[in-house]
Amino acid sequence: MSSASEAALLAKVPDRLFIGGQWLESSSGKAIDVIDPATGLVIKTIADASVADAALAMDAAAAAQDGWARTAPRVRGEILRRAFDLLQERADEFALLMTLEMGKPLAEARGEVTYGGEFLRWFSEEAVRISGRYGSNPEGTGRMIVTHLPVGPSYLITPWNFPLAMATRKIAPALAAGCTAIVKPAELTPLTTLYFARLLEDAGLPAGVLNVLTTSAAGEITTPILADSRLRKLSFTGSTAVGVRLLKQAADNVLRTSMELGGNAPFIVFEDANMDKAVDGAMLAKFRNIGQACTAANRFIVHESVADEFAARVTERVRALSVGRGTEDGVTIGPLINEGALDKAERLVRDAVDRGATVLTGGGRIEGAGTFFEPTVISGVTPGSAILNQEIFGPVLSIIPFTDEDDAVAKANDTEFGLVGYVFTEDFARGQRLIETLQTGMMGLNVGVVSNAAAPFGGVKQSGIGREGGAEGIHEYLETKYVLTPNPFA
Ligand code: ADP
Repeated sequence: MSSASEAALLAKVPDRLFIGGQWLESSSGKAIDVIDPATGLVIKTIADASVADAALAMDAAAAAQDGWARTAPRVRGEILRRAFDLLQERADEFALLMTLEMGKPLAEARGEVTYGGEFLRWFSEEAVRISGRYGSNPEGTGRMIVTHLPVGPSYLITPWNFPLAMATRKIAPALAAGCTAIVKPAELTPLTTLYFARLLEDAGLPAGVLNVLTTSAAGEITTPILADSRLRKLSFTGSTAVGVRLLKQAADNVLRTSMELGGNAPFIVFEDANMDKAVDGAMLAKFRNIGQACTAANRFIVHESVADEFAARVTERVRALSVGRGTEDGVTIGPLINEGALDKAERLVRDAVDRGATVLTGGGRIEGAGTFFEPTVISGVTPGSAILNQEIFGPVLSIIPFTDEDDAVAKANDTEFGLVGYVFTEDFARGQRLIETLQTGMMGLNVGVVSNAAAPFGGVKQSGIGREGGAEGIHEYLETKYVLTPNPFA
Protein backbone atom coordinates (compact mmCIF):
# COMPACT_ATOMS: atom_id res chain seq x y z
CA MET A 1 0.00 0.00 0.00
CA SER A 2 1.58 3.28 -1.05
CA SER A 3 1.67 6.27 1.20
CA ALA A 4 0.02 8.25 -1.63
CA SER A 5 -3.06 6.04 -1.50
CA GLU A 6 -3.07 6.31 2.30
CA ALA A 7 -2.96 10.10 2.08
CA ALA A 8 -5.70 10.16 -0.56
CA LEU A 9 -7.97 8.06 1.65
CA LEU A 10 -7.27 10.09 4.79
CA ALA A 11 -8.10 13.28 2.89
CA LYS A 12 -11.57 11.88 2.14
CA VAL A 13 -12.40 11.16 5.79
CA PRO A 14 -14.43 13.95 7.45
CA ASP A 15 -12.62 15.81 10.23
CA ARG A 16 -15.68 17.36 11.87
CA LEU A 17 -18.58 16.37 14.10
CA PHE A 18 -21.72 15.02 12.44
CA ILE A 19 -24.72 16.64 14.13
CA GLY A 20 -28.23 17.07 12.74
CA GLY A 21 -27.07 16.12 9.26
CA GLN A 22 -24.30 18.74 9.21
CA TRP A 23 -20.56 18.49 9.55
CA LEU A 24 -19.69 20.97 12.29
CA GLU A 25 -16.49 22.30 13.79
CA SER A 26 -16.05 21.73 17.51
CA SER A 27 -17.48 24.70 19.40
CA SER A 28 -14.35 24.78 21.56
CA GLY A 29 -12.03 24.77 18.55
CA LYS A 30 -10.10 21.90 20.13
CA ALA A 31 -8.75 19.03 18.06
CA ILE A 32 -7.71 15.38 18.47
CA ASP A 33 -4.60 13.97 16.80
CA VAL A 34 -5.19 10.45 15.51
CA ILE A 35 -2.06 8.30 15.57
CA ASP A 36 -0.97 5.27 13.55
CA PRO A 37 0.22 2.86 16.27
CA ALA A 38 2.62 1.20 13.82
CA THR A 39 4.61 4.42 13.35
CA GLY A 40 3.63 6.67 16.22
CA LEU A 41 2.90 9.42 13.67
CA VAL A 42 -0.19 11.63 13.50
CA ILE A 43 -2.30 10.64 10.49
CA LYS A 44 -5.16 13.10 10.83
CA THR A 45 -6.43 15.82 13.14
CA ILE A 46 -10.17 15.98 13.82
CA ALA A 47 -12.68 17.95 15.87
CA ASP A 48 -12.77 17.36 19.62
CA ALA A 49 -16.38 17.67 20.81
CA SER A 50 -17.21 19.71 23.89
CA VAL A 51 -20.17 19.61 26.26
CA ALA A 52 -21.88 22.27 24.09
CA ASP A 53 -21.53 20.01 21.03
CA ALA A 54 -22.99 17.12 23.01
CA ALA A 55 -26.03 19.26 23.80
CA LEU A 56 -26.48 19.98 20.08
CA ALA A 57 -26.26 16.27 19.27
CA MET A 58 -28.82 15.45 21.96
CA ASP A 59 -31.16 18.11 20.54
CA ALA A 60 -30.72 16.69 17.04
CA ALA A 61 -31.33 13.07 18.09
CA ALA A 62 -34.42 14.08 20.09
CA ALA A 63 -35.80 16.22 17.25
CA ALA A 64 -35.44 13.40 14.71
CA GLN A 65 -36.88 10.67 16.96
CA ASP A 66 -40.61 10.84 16.15
CA GLY A 67 -40.10 11.15 12.42
CA TRP A 68 -37.70 8.21 12.34
CA ALA A 69 -39.95 6.03 14.52
CA ARG A 70 -42.81 6.70 12.08
CA THR A 71 -40.68 6.03 9.01
CA ALA A 72 -41.87 2.76 7.51
CA PRO A 73 -39.81 -0.22 8.66
CA ARG A 74 -39.26 -1.10 5.01
CA VAL A 75 -37.74 2.33 4.38
CA ARG A 76 -35.53 2.06 7.46
CA GLY A 77 -34.44 -1.38 6.34
CA GLU A 78 -33.69 -0.24 2.81
CA ILE A 79 -31.44 2.56 4.02
CA LEU A 80 -29.49 -0.01 6.01
CA ARG A 81 -29.38 -2.30 3.00
CA ARG A 82 -28.04 0.56 0.84
CA ALA A 83 -25.44 1.17 3.53
CA PHE A 84 -24.47 -2.51 3.29
CA ASP A 85 -24.09 -2.20 -0.49
CA LEU A 86 -22.05 0.99 -0.23
CA LEU A 87 -19.81 -0.66 2.33
CA GLN A 88 -19.05 -3.45 -0.12
CA GLU A 89 -18.08 -0.82 -2.71
CA ARG A 90 -15.88 0.97 -0.20
CA ALA A 91 -14.55 -2.17 1.50
CA ASP A 92 -10.91 -1.57 0.60
CA GLU A 93 -11.07 1.98 1.92
CA PHE A 94 -12.62 0.97 5.23
CA ALA A 95 -10.11 -1.85 5.63
CA LEU A 96 -7.15 0.46 5.04
CA LEU A 97 -8.58 3.13 7.32
CA MET A 98 -8.90 0.65 10.18
CA THR A 99 -5.37 -0.62 9.63
CA LEU A 100 -4.07 2.94 9.70
CA GLU A 101 -5.79 4.08 12.87
CA MET A 102 -5.86 0.81 14.81
CA GLY A 103 -2.98 -1.27 13.45
CA LYS A 104 -4.60 -4.59 12.58
CA PRO A 105 -3.24 -6.43 9.53
CA LEU A 106 -5.04 -5.49 6.33
CA ALA A 107 -6.41 -9.00 5.79
CA GLU A 108 -8.03 -8.89 9.22
CA ALA A 109 -9.36 -5.40 8.55
CA ARG A 110 -11.02 -6.78 5.40
CA GLY A 111 -12.52 -9.52 7.56
CA GLU A 112 -13.89 -6.85 9.88
CA VAL A 113 -15.52 -5.05 6.94
CA THR A 114 -17.30 -8.31 6.11
CA TYR A 115 -18.30 -8.92 9.72
CA GLY A 116 -19.27 -5.30 10.38
CA GLY A 117 -21.24 -5.16 7.14
CA GLU A 118 -23.26 -8.20 8.11
CA PHE A 119 -24.91 -6.23 10.93
CA LEU A 120 -26.21 -3.79 8.32
CA ARG A 121 -27.60 -6.61 6.18
CA TRP A 122 -29.00 -8.58 9.13
CA PHE A 123 -30.77 -5.62 10.72
CA SER A 124 -32.02 -4.36 7.36
CA GLU A 125 -33.89 -7.69 7.33
CA GLU A 126 -34.94 -7.52 10.98
CA ALA A 127 -36.43 -4.02 10.62
CA VAL A 128 -39.49 -5.50 8.89
CA ARG A 129 -39.83 -8.45 11.29
CA ILE A 130 -40.66 -6.59 14.50
CA SER A 131 -43.71 -8.58 15.50
CA GLY A 132 -46.14 -8.68 18.40
CA ARG A 133 -48.96 -10.94 19.55
CA TYR A 134 -52.71 -10.87 20.09
CA GLY A 135 -54.79 -13.26 22.15
CA SER A 136 -57.30 -13.90 24.85
CA ASN A 137 -56.43 -13.50 28.50
CA PRO A 138 -56.77 -16.77 30.49
CA GLU A 139 -60.05 -15.58 32.04
CA GLY A 140 -61.57 -14.95 28.60
CA THR A 141 -62.67 -11.48 29.68
CA GLY A 142 -60.30 -9.53 27.47
CA ARG A 143 -57.93 -9.47 24.55
CA MET A 144 -54.26 -8.84 25.09
CA ILE A 145 -52.13 -7.02 22.52
CA VAL A 146 -48.35 -7.03 22.85
CA THR A 147 -46.42 -4.72 20.56
CA HIS A 148 -42.90 -3.34 20.37
CA LEU A 149 -42.02 0.33 20.06
CA PRO A 150 -38.64 2.05 19.67
CA VAL A 151 -37.12 2.83 23.04
CA GLY A 152 -36.05 6.31 21.85
CA PRO A 153 -32.84 8.31 21.46
CA SER A 154 -29.87 6.07 22.17
CA TYR A 155 -26.28 6.82 23.15
CA LEU A 156 -23.77 4.39 21.71
CA ILE A 157 -20.20 4.25 23.04
CA THR A 158 -17.75 2.10 21.11
CA PRO A 159 -14.19 0.86 21.75
CA TRP A 160 -11.09 1.12 19.57
CA ASN A 161 -10.38 -2.55 18.86
CA PHE A 162 -13.04 -3.14 16.16
CA PRO A 163 -13.71 0.40 14.90
CA LEU A 164 -16.29 -0.60 12.27
CA ALA A 165 -17.98 -3.71 13.64
CA MET A 166 -18.57 -2.32 17.13
CA ALA A 167 -20.22 0.71 15.54
CA THR A 168 -22.45 -1.20 13.09
CA ARG A 169 -23.38 -3.74 15.77
CA LYS A 170 -25.03 -0.89 17.69
CA ILE A 171 -26.05 1.57 14.95
CA ALA A 172 -27.79 -0.99 12.72
CA PRO A 173 -30.20 -2.42 15.34
CA ALA A 174 -30.89 1.05 16.81
CA LEU A 175 -31.83 2.45 13.40
CA ALA A 176 -33.74 -0.68 12.38
CA ALA A 177 -35.82 -0.44 15.55
CA GLY A 178 -36.67 3.20 14.86
CA CYS A 179 -34.33 4.82 17.38
CA THR A 180 -32.18 7.84 16.66
CA ALA A 181 -28.66 7.77 18.03
CA ILE A 182 -25.58 9.61 19.14
CA VAL A 183 -22.44 7.56 18.65
CA LYS A 184 -19.23 8.30 20.50
CA PRO A 185 -16.34 6.32 19.06
CA ALA A 186 -13.14 5.72 21.00
CA GLU A 187 -10.80 8.70 20.82
CA LEU A 188 -8.01 6.42 19.57
CA THR A 189 -9.91 5.27 16.45
CA PRO A 190 -12.55 7.85 15.52
CA LEU A 191 -11.91 7.98 11.76
CA THR A 192 -13.78 4.81 10.79
CA THR A 193 -16.96 6.06 12.48
CA LEU A 194 -16.71 9.44 10.78
CA TYR A 195 -16.25 7.78 7.41
CA PHE A 196 -19.14 5.45 8.17
CA ALA A 197 -21.38 8.42 9.02
CA ARG A 198 -20.54 9.82 5.60
CA LEU A 199 -21.57 6.48 4.11
CA LEU A 200 -24.92 6.56 5.94
CA GLU A 201 -25.47 10.07 4.65
CA ASP A 202 -24.84 8.76 1.12
CA ALA A 203 -27.27 5.90 1.81
CA GLY A 204 -30.01 8.48 2.42
CA LEU A 205 -30.25 8.54 6.21
CA PRO A 206 -32.34 11.58 7.25
CA ALA A 207 -30.65 14.39 9.19
CA GLY A 208 -30.35 13.91 12.94
CA VAL A 209 -31.04 10.17 12.95
CA LEU A 210 -27.35 9.45 13.57
CA ASN A 211 -25.00 11.95 15.18
CA VAL A 212 -21.29 11.45 15.80
CA LEU A 213 -19.29 13.02 18.61
CA THR A 214 -15.56 12.45 18.50
CA THR A 215 -13.99 13.64 21.71
CA SER A 216 -11.02 13.38 24.01
CA ALA A 217 -13.31 14.23 26.93
CA ALA A 218 -15.46 11.08 27.01
CA GLY A 219 -16.48 11.38 30.64
CA GLU A 220 -17.17 15.10 30.45
CA ILE A 221 -19.55 14.94 27.48
CA THR A 222 -21.17 11.68 28.58
CA THR A 223 -22.39 12.90 31.96
CA PRO A 224 -24.85 15.53 30.61
CA ILE A 225 -26.03 13.20 27.83
CA LEU A 226 -26.87 10.45 30.34
CA ALA A 227 -28.58 12.97 32.59
CA ASP A 228 -30.81 14.29 29.78
CA SER A 229 -34.35 12.97 30.23
CA ARG A 230 -34.80 12.75 26.45
CA LEU A 231 -32.17 10.01 26.25
CA ARG A 232 -33.69 6.54 26.77
CA LYS A 233 -30.94 4.08 26.09
CA LEU A 234 -27.22 3.50 26.64
CA SER A 235 -25.28 0.87 24.75
CA PHE A 236 -21.63 0.57 25.73
CA THR A 237 -18.76 -1.67 24.70
CA GLY A 238 -15.57 -1.29 26.69
CA SER A 239 -13.92 -2.06 29.97
CA THR A 240 -15.83 -3.30 33.01
CA ALA A 241 -14.46 -0.42 35.10
CA VAL A 242 -15.93 2.23 32.80
CA GLY A 243 -19.09 0.15 32.27
CA VAL A 244 -19.78 -0.01 35.99
CA ARG A 245 -19.36 3.75 36.25
CA LEU A 246 -21.76 4.34 33.36
CA LEU A 247 -24.33 1.92 34.81
CA LYS A 248 -24.34 3.99 38.00
CA GLN A 249 -24.87 7.18 35.99
CA ALA A 250 -27.56 5.50 33.87
CA ALA A 251 -29.43 4.49 37.02
CA ASP A 252 -30.27 8.12 37.83
CA ASN A 253 -32.28 8.35 34.60
CA VAL A 254 -33.43 4.67 34.68
CA LEU A 255 -32.03 4.11 31.21
CA ARG A 256 -32.27 0.88 29.29
CA THR A 257 -28.70 -0.41 29.04
CA SER A 258 -26.77 -2.88 26.93
CA MET A 259 -23.27 -3.44 28.26
CA GLU A 260 -20.57 -5.44 26.52
CA LEU A 261 -17.75 -5.45 29.02
CA GLY A 262 -14.51 -7.27 29.66
CA GLY A 263 -13.76 -10.93 29.12
CA ASN A 264 -11.33 -13.52 30.44
CA ALA A 265 -12.05 -16.36 28.05
CA PRO A 266 -10.97 -19.87 28.98
CA PHE A 267 -9.84 -22.14 26.15
CA ILE A 268 -10.06 -25.71 27.37
CA VAL A 269 -8.26 -28.52 25.57
CA PHE A 270 -9.33 -31.96 26.81
CA GLU A 271 -7.18 -35.06 26.44
CA ASP A 272 -9.65 -36.35 23.82
CA ALA A 273 -9.46 -33.18 21.68
CA ASN A 274 -8.49 -33.27 18.03
CA MET A 275 -5.12 -31.55 18.42
CA ASP A 276 -5.06 -30.14 14.87
CA LYS A 277 -8.39 -28.41 15.45
CA ALA A 278 -7.31 -27.23 18.90
CA VAL A 279 -4.09 -25.66 17.61
CA ASP A 280 -5.88 -23.97 14.69
CA GLY A 281 -8.60 -22.74 17.05
CA ALA A 282 -6.01 -21.46 19.53
CA MET A 283 -4.25 -19.36 16.90
CA LEU A 284 -7.52 -17.71 15.92
CA ALA A 285 -8.86 -17.33 19.43
CA LYS A 286 -5.62 -15.77 20.66
CA PHE A 287 -3.92 -13.88 17.85
CA ARG A 288 -6.82 -12.46 15.84
CA ASN A 289 -6.72 -8.67 16.22
CA ILE A 290 -3.27 -8.95 17.87
CA GLY A 291 -4.98 -10.46 20.90
CA GLN A 292 -6.96 -7.26 21.40
CA ALA A 293 -10.49 -8.65 21.54
CA CYS A 294 -12.80 -9.13 24.50
CA THR A 295 -13.42 -12.61 23.06
CA ALA A 296 -9.68 -13.39 22.92
CA ALA A 297 -8.72 -16.60 24.70
CA ASN A 298 -7.01 -15.41 27.86
CA ARG A 299 -6.26 -18.70 29.63
CA PHE A 300 -5.39 -21.95 27.83
CA ILE A 301 -6.47 -24.64 30.26
CA VAL A 302 -4.96 -27.84 28.87
CA HIS A 303 -5.12 -31.42 30.19
CA GLU A 304 -1.80 -32.32 31.77
CA SER A 305 -1.36 -35.33 29.47
CA VAL A 306 -1.40 -33.16 26.32
CA ALA A 307 -0.11 -29.84 27.69
CA ASP A 308 3.48 -30.35 26.44
CA GLU A 309 2.34 -31.40 22.96
CA PHE A 310 -0.10 -28.46 22.74
CA ALA A 311 2.59 -26.03 23.95
CA ALA A 312 5.14 -27.30 21.43
CA ARG A 313 2.72 -27.12 18.53
CA VAL A 314 1.40 -23.63 19.28
CA THR A 315 4.95 -22.39 19.89
CA GLU A 316 5.97 -23.55 16.43
CA ARG A 317 3.01 -21.73 14.92
CA VAL A 318 3.62 -18.59 16.97
CA ARG A 319 7.27 -18.43 15.88
CA ALA A 320 6.02 -18.31 12.28
CA LEU A 321 3.87 -15.20 12.86
CA SER A 322 5.08 -12.10 11.12
CA VAL A 323 5.14 -8.81 13.06
CA GLY A 324 4.97 -5.47 11.28
CA ARG A 325 2.86 -2.61 10.02
CA GLY A 326 -0.53 -4.00 9.05
CA THR A 327 -0.33 -2.54 5.54
CA GLU A 328 2.67 -4.73 4.64
CA ASP A 329 2.17 -7.99 2.79
CA GLY A 330 2.30 -11.11 4.92
CA VAL A 331 2.10 -9.33 8.28
CA THR A 332 -0.04 -11.28 10.75
CA ILE A 333 0.66 -9.32 13.94
CA GLY A 334 0.43 -5.53 14.00
CA PRO A 335 1.25 -3.16 16.85
CA LEU A 336 -0.60 -2.91 20.14
CA ILE A 337 -2.78 0.16 20.40
CA ASN A 338 -0.45 2.25 22.61
CA GLU A 339 2.31 2.32 25.22
CA GLY A 340 -0.11 1.49 28.00
CA ALA A 341 -1.04 -1.75 26.27
CA LEU A 342 2.65 -2.66 25.89
CA ASP A 343 3.30 -1.95 29.56
CA LYS A 344 0.39 -4.14 30.59
CA ALA A 345 1.45 -7.12 28.45
CA GLU A 346 4.99 -6.81 29.72
CA ARG A 347 3.89 -6.57 33.35
CA LEU A 348 1.62 -9.62 33.09
CA VAL A 349 4.32 -11.77 31.48
CA ARG A 350 6.91 -10.70 34.05
CA ASP A 351 4.54 -11.47 36.93
CA ALA A 352 3.72 -14.94 35.52
CA VAL A 353 7.43 -15.73 35.10
CA ASP A 354 8.22 -14.49 38.61
CA ARG A 355 5.60 -16.96 39.84
CA GLY A 356 7.09 -19.93 38.02
CA ALA A 357 5.93 -19.85 34.39
CA THR A 358 8.30 -20.56 31.49
CA VAL A 359 8.57 -18.39 28.36
CA LEU A 360 8.57 -20.69 25.31
CA THR A 361 8.86 -17.90 22.77
CA GLY A 362 8.69 -14.10 22.71
CA GLY A 363 8.17 -12.36 26.03
CA GLY A 364 8.73 -8.66 25.55
CA ARG A 365 8.28 -5.45 23.64
CA ILE A 366 10.07 -4.81 20.35
CA GLU A 367 12.22 -1.68 20.51
CA GLY A 368 11.91 0.95 17.79
CA ALA A 369 9.08 2.95 16.22
CA GLY A 370 5.52 1.83 16.93
CA THR A 371 4.15 -0.17 19.84
CA PHE A 372 4.98 -3.78 18.95
CA PHE A 373 5.03 -6.78 21.29
CA GLU A 374 6.55 -10.15 20.47
CA PRO A 375 4.05 -12.97 19.92
CA THR A 376 4.53 -14.93 23.13
CA VAL A 377 3.81 -18.37 24.61
CA ILE A 378 4.22 -19.07 28.31
CA SER A 379 3.55 -22.41 29.95
CA GLY A 380 3.19 -23.69 33.49
CA VAL A 381 1.34 -20.57 34.67
CA THR A 382 0.69 -20.96 38.40
CA PRO A 383 -2.39 -20.03 40.46
CA GLY A 384 -2.29 -16.46 41.72
CA SER A 385 -0.62 -15.09 38.58
CA ALA A 386 -2.18 -11.78 37.49
CA ILE A 387 -2.45 -13.03 33.90
CA LEU A 388 -5.19 -15.45 35.03
CA ASN A 389 -7.59 -12.76 36.17
CA GLN A 390 -6.82 -9.76 33.93
CA GLU A 391 -7.53 -9.32 30.25
CA ILE A 392 -4.14 -9.51 28.53
CA PHE A 393 -5.27 -7.68 25.36
CA GLY A 394 -2.04 -8.64 23.61
CA PRO A 395 -0.40 -11.54 21.73
CA VAL A 396 0.40 -13.63 24.79
CA LEU A 397 -0.76 -17.24 25.00
CA SER A 398 -0.57 -18.63 28.53
CA ILE A 399 -0.99 -22.32 29.36
CA ILE A 400 -2.25 -23.78 32.63
CA PRO A 401 -2.45 -27.58 33.07
CA PHE A 402 -5.52 -29.32 34.59
CA THR A 403 -6.18 -32.82 35.91
CA ASP A 404 -9.84 -33.74 35.20
CA GLU A 405 -13.09 -32.23 33.90
CA ASP A 406 -14.14 -30.87 37.30
CA ASP A 407 -10.75 -29.20 37.69
CA ALA A 408 -10.99 -27.70 34.18
CA VAL A 409 -14.46 -26.29 34.81
CA ALA A 410 -13.48 -24.93 38.22
CA LYS A 411 -10.44 -23.20 36.74
CA ALA A 412 -12.43 -21.85 33.76
CA ASN A 413 -15.16 -20.42 36.03
CA ASP A 414 -12.70 -18.94 38.53
CA THR A 415 -13.18 -15.38 37.26
CA GLU A 416 -15.70 -12.58 37.65
CA PHE A 417 -16.03 -12.48 33.84
CA GLY A 418 -18.23 -14.69 31.66
CA LEU A 419 -18.20 -13.61 28.04
CA VAL A 420 -17.10 -16.60 26.00
CA GLY A 421 -15.38 -19.95 26.48
CA TYR A 422 -13.78 -22.31 23.98
CA VAL A 423 -13.92 -26.07 24.49
CA PHE A 424 -12.07 -28.65 22.45
CA THR A 425 -13.22 -32.25 22.91
CA GLU A 426 -14.31 -35.06 20.62
CA ASP A 427 -16.58 -36.45 23.36
CA PHE A 428 -20.06 -35.16 22.54
CA ALA A 429 -21.52 -35.78 26.01
CA ARG A 430 -18.62 -33.88 27.57
CA GLY A 431 -19.21 -31.00 25.16
CA GLN A 432 -22.88 -30.98 26.15
CA ARG A 433 -21.97 -30.95 29.85
CA LEU A 434 -19.70 -27.96 29.28
CA ILE A 435 -22.54 -26.03 27.62
CA GLU A 436 -24.26 -26.14 31.00
CA THR A 437 -21.30 -25.89 33.39
CA LEU A 438 -19.25 -23.16 31.72
CA GLN A 439 -20.41 -19.79 33.10
CA THR A 440 -20.29 -17.75 29.88
CA GLY A 441 -22.76 -16.10 27.53
CA MET A 442 -21.15 -17.76 24.49
CA MET A 443 -19.18 -20.90 23.79
CA GLY A 444 -17.13 -22.19 20.87
CA LEU A 445 -17.28 -25.99 20.75
CA ASN A 446 -14.29 -27.07 18.66
CA VAL A 447 -14.06 -23.61 17.05
CA GLY A 448 -11.91 -20.59 17.94
CA VAL A 449 -14.17 -17.73 16.76
CA VAL A 450 -17.90 -17.47 17.49
CA SER A 451 -18.90 -13.96 16.39
CA ASN A 452 -21.70 -13.75 13.82
CA ALA A 453 -24.23 -11.02 13.09
CA ALA A 454 -27.02 -13.59 13.27
CA ALA A 455 -26.06 -14.73 16.78
CA PRO A 456 -26.67 -13.12 20.18
CA PHE A 457 -23.30 -11.78 21.33
CA GLY A 458 -22.92 -11.04 25.03
CA GLY A 459 -21.80 -12.15 28.42
CA VAL A 460 -22.86 -13.12 31.92
CA LYS A 461 -21.40 -12.08 35.29
CA GLN A 462 -19.25 -8.93 34.95
CA SER A 463 -18.98 -9.36 31.17
CA GLY A 464 -22.19 -7.51 30.68
CA ILE A 465 -25.92 -7.16 30.21
CA GLY A 466 -27.90 -7.74 27.03
CA ARG A 467 -27.08 -9.19 23.63
CA GLU A 468 -26.03 -7.70 20.30
CA GLY A 469 -26.83 -9.34 16.98
CA GLY A 470 -29.30 -12.10 16.23
CA ALA A 471 -33.03 -11.85 16.72
CA GLU A 472 -32.25 -10.61 20.24
CA GLY A 473 -30.22 -7.61 19.05
CA ILE A 474 -33.10 -5.46 17.86
CA HIS A 475 -35.02 -5.99 21.11
CA GLU A 476 -32.31 -4.11 22.97
CA TYR A 477 -33.76 -1.04 21.20
CA LEU A 478 -37.45 -1.87 21.59
CA GLU A 479 -39.85 -1.44 24.48
CA THR A 480 -42.60 -3.97 24.99
CA LYS A 481 -46.06 -2.44 25.22
CA TYR A 482 -49.02 -4.45 26.46
CA VAL A 483 -52.60 -3.36 25.76
CA LEU A 484 -55.78 -4.89 27.16
CA THR A 485 -59.16 -4.51 25.47
CA PRO A 486 -62.46 -6.08 26.56
CA ASN A 487 -63.70 -9.36 25.10
CA PRO A 488 -65.60 -8.11 22.00
CA PHE A 489 -68.30 -10.81 22.53
CA ALA A 490 -69.03 -9.98 26.15
P1 ADP B 1 -10.39 0.38 26.76
O1 ADP B 1 -9.70 0.07 28.04
O2 ADP B 1 -10.59 -0.78 25.88
O3 ADP B 1 -9.89 1.59 26.05
P2 ADP B 1 -12.55 1.93 27.80
O4 ADP B 1 -13.66 1.37 28.61
O5 ADP B 1 -11.61 2.87 28.45
O6 ADP B 1 -11.86 0.67 27.18
O7 ADP B 1 -13.10 2.66 26.50
C1 ADP B 1 -14.21 2.22 25.78
C2 ADP B 1 -15.01 3.42 25.35
O8 ADP B 1 -15.48 4.07 26.52
C3 ADP B 1 -14.24 4.46 24.56
O9 ADP B 1 -15.10 5.02 23.59
C4 ADP B 1 -13.92 5.50 25.61
O10 ADP B 1 -13.76 6.80 25.08
C5 ADP B 1 -15.16 5.45 26.46
N1 ADP B 1 -15.01 5.97 27.81
C6 ADP B 1 -13.95 5.87 28.64
N2 ADP B 1 -14.21 6.50 29.81
C7 ADP B 1 -15.47 6.99 29.72
C8 ADP B 1 -16.34 7.72 30.58
N3 ADP B 1 -15.97 8.08 31.81
N4 ADP B 1 -17.58 8.04 30.13
C9 ADP B 1 -17.96 7.68 28.91
N5 ADP B 1 -17.21 6.98 28.05
C10 ADP B 1 -15.98 6.65 28.44
